[in-house]
Amino acid sequence: IWERVLARVEAKLNRHTFLTWFKPTRFIRENGDTLMVEVPDGTVRDWLLRHYGSILAEALAEAGRPGAVVSFVPADGTEISEPSPAEEFLIRQSEDPATAPPLAQGPSGLNHRYTFETFVVGPSNQFANAAARAVAEAPGRSYNPLFMYGGVGLGKTHLMHAIGQYVDRHHRQSALTYISSERFMNEMINAIRYERIIDFRERYRNVDVLLVDDAQFLAGKEATQNEFFHTFNALYDSGKQIVLSSDRPPHEIPALEERLRSRFNWGLIADIQPPDLETKIAILKKKSDADGVPLPDNVALFIATKIKSNIRDLEGSLIRLVAYASLTGKDITLALAQDVLRSIIGGEEKAITLDALVKFVAEYYGVRPSELKAASNSRQVVTPRQVAMYLCKTLTSASLPDIGRVFGKHHSTVIHSIRKVEEDRKKNADFNSQINAMLDNFR
Ligand code: ADP
Ligand code: MG
Repeated sequence: IWERVLARVEAKLNRHTFLTWFKPTRFIRENGDTLMVEVPDGTVRDWLLRHYGSILAEALAEAGRPGAVVSFVPADGTEISEPSPAEEFLIRQSEDPATAPPLAQGPSGLNHRYTFETFVVGPSNQFANAAARAVAEAPGRSYNPLFMYGGVGLGKTHLMHAIGQYVDRHHRQSALTYISSERFMNEMINAIRYERIIDFRERYRNVDVLLVDDAQFLAGKEATQNEFFHTFNALYDSGKQIVLSSDRPPHEIPALEERLRSRFNWGLIADIQPPDLETKIAILKKKSDADGVPLPDNVALFIATKIKSNIRDLEGSLIRLVAYASLTGKDITLALAQDVLRSIIGGEEKAITLDALVKFVAEYYGVRPSELKAASNSRQVVTPRQVAMYLCKTLTSASLPDIGRVFGKHHSTVIHSIRKVEEDRKKNADFNSQINAMLDNFR
């Protein structure tokens, strides 16, 4: 279970943060609804509880354990210490219902912080925001289904929760369910195992608004897709609202049944793009104002410029900066920000994984990452694969055998591929500038 929780956490954080705080944890045992997890020391424990409470709560829910709590046990035997005054300030900071551990969720599993009021609207998310509001105001009567898609940390879950809370507040009689597609699958499997499939169906087919987060997890899960198809039809036919989110549009979700894909296209598809600089600054300002922390303009600009697109990372940087400033009693200045965020920002740039490169190249050429890793030598994949190997060699410190393993190839093939790309760069100016553009993406 902890593995699954970690996998969900990893998807929400930047790599450096994950490696620093979550990687060194070790699952001990489960005690009713409490997961006992070992951490290196008391500092890590406190930090995790203070800053990642809500992320943990989300991850637990997504991993099929909503309502579970995590108890961190310091491996060095640190007593659970009294907070110092500066720390106390931080605890109070995080004691708004949304970030306070354990478990910041209301009865419907919605995060109180994720409302339309706290959502900053800019050109990148304006369309999705308007669509979400329309749906929240007239569930089942505007766009059905509403399908929102966009990259990690761009606000999909936030908007889903915002719809949920708006509906809760303004249409009190409406029954509402928010669930990730992964949890939908886990519950369905359990229902089958314990012969409660009828209850399961009733639960999901008798709601007025069904919010399904991260629908991309339906990819390749045939039985789940089949069950969801029937749920969808039952709701749709009786005019109930369905809202879906995904990290990509329906036609890019692999192994999704055609009948589901076409249903997802029946209503409105709204994308969320990475925020522009102004929106990022506005988000930072809004969050720091809400926390009562003055954030100088040049510091906001600095963070907004350095954090490329993920809004979760943007928030994470701000939290870290504010924590550091208050623990050390320093003012928030540009110099402090540069100092404190160096590791996050440097980490973001340095931590290029082989898989990330494969995914990037696959996207660039419009093939699937799995195709680059498969044995096939068809023409569409040969060049992308060579380019992917070349980028892996150029941009990471991975060894040739390491790279070979990613693609299921011998390291001599990797050498050959790299040479081929180098030669082609010399011979073909277009190809050369494509490669340069790809490299620039990571430098
Ligand atoms: P996704 O589900 O797309 O991966 P989330 O909805 O979980 O992303 O957003 C990540 C974090 O960024 C959340 O804490 C969310 O509140 C915040 N966030 C995203 N977009 C905005 C926005 N436009 N305004 C304010 N906060 C935002
Ligand atoms: Mg999400």
